[in-house]
Amino acid sequence: MFGALYGDILGSYYEVHCTKDYNFDFLPDSSFTDDSVLIAAVCKAILNNDEEVSWHSLQKRALEYAGQYKQYYSYYPNAGFGNMFSEWARSETYKRVKSYGNGAAMRAVPIGYAYNSIKQVMLQAKASCLYTHKNSEAIRGAQAVAVSVFLARSGQTKEEIKRLIEKKFKYNLSKSISEIRGNYVFNSRASYSVPSAIIAFLQSGDYESAVRNAISLGGDADTEACIAGGIAEAFYKEIPEHIIAFCDRKIDYTLKKIVKDFEERYK
Ligand SMILES: [Mg+2]
Repeated sequence: MFGALYGDILGSYYEVHCTKDYNFDFLPDSSFTDDSVLIAAVCKAILNNDEEVSWHSLQKRALEYAGQYKQYYSYYPNAGFGNMFSEWARSETYKRVKSYGNGAAMRAVPIGYAYNSIKQVMLQAKASCLYTHKNSEAIRGAQAVAVSVFLARSGQTKEEIKRLIEKKFKYNLSKSISEIRGNYVFNSRASYSVPSAIIAFLQSGDYESAVRNAISLGGDADTEACIAGGIAEAFYKEIPEHIIAFCDRKIDYTLKKIVKDFEERYK
């Protein structure tokens, strides 16, 4: 789980100062952002209630996720949230926003750890979107990330993960990282940024290269690396010590505690 937060931290500087350099430095200015905050919110929603849902209970479950998003936003309102999300999180009501951004995908990693069938992972990922990203493109992005994590932690090969995600979500995952990097720009639209983050993982050799692939695309670096790092940790099951040492001290106690509790229950 921390692999997603570390990706967010390592990418945070480069979200603003985009780089195409694979050998970029880890910079002291790095910090956790909204991606990590909302991952903690999803962890909390699951720790509070990890019962499986059906189509009938989807709306109730959606409200539980949404309640945690508002709660965690209130703890860290300056963590880099987008305007649309901030406005929703601050409002007294629970209206539904139809964003097609990658904000639902970046927080979906915990769902792939907590549930034990593709069907349930798909339903939970959908529920996690219904208040802030009630849009088929955003929902597909969140589901693709959660299912990728589920497959990665279940011991599937990269070839199998690629085949299943391409088939289920109609993503083209066959482009090479260097091919994508050439024209890549900052665009947080889910259909643009989620497939590239998954490819960053698929064409990696270990956790660190997944994160380096993602950040050096030169786009929405923290979110790209959060997603790629989350899937990579589930797959490789180890993160280099120097990355842990660099990132761990940058995570606030409240976030760390909830993610640790989550990891202990769903390892
Ligand atoms: Mg961010």
